[in-house]
Amino acid sequence: MSQSDYWTSEQGTIIRLEALAQDLVWGSYNETIVVLAPGVDPNSFLIYQTAEDEDVCEICDGNRGEYDFTETNLPDLPAHVNCRCEWYIA
Ligand SMILES: [Zn+2]
Repeated sequence: MSQSDYWTSEQGTIIRLEALAQDLVWGSYNETIVVLAPGVDPNSFLIYQTAEDEDVCEICDGNRGEYDFTETNLPDLPAHVNCRCEWYIA
């Protein structure tokens, strides 16, 4: 698909709407995990889990790891369009 088709065709609009929907659903899912974590176990922590393949970007690779759920500056998830990372409670 050409750059102009992406922005002007019906197919391009569908692709953009699907990306937006995925971003909203994935963002809601990850926000819910962060809110629920303390109730699951006060000693729990959060793991920023990447897809762990060659397509993981520098931003997500840098964010990967363990976080205390009381951390006030948790990385946003999704970190970008088509981000496949997620929070796990551990
Ligand atoms: Zn990511």
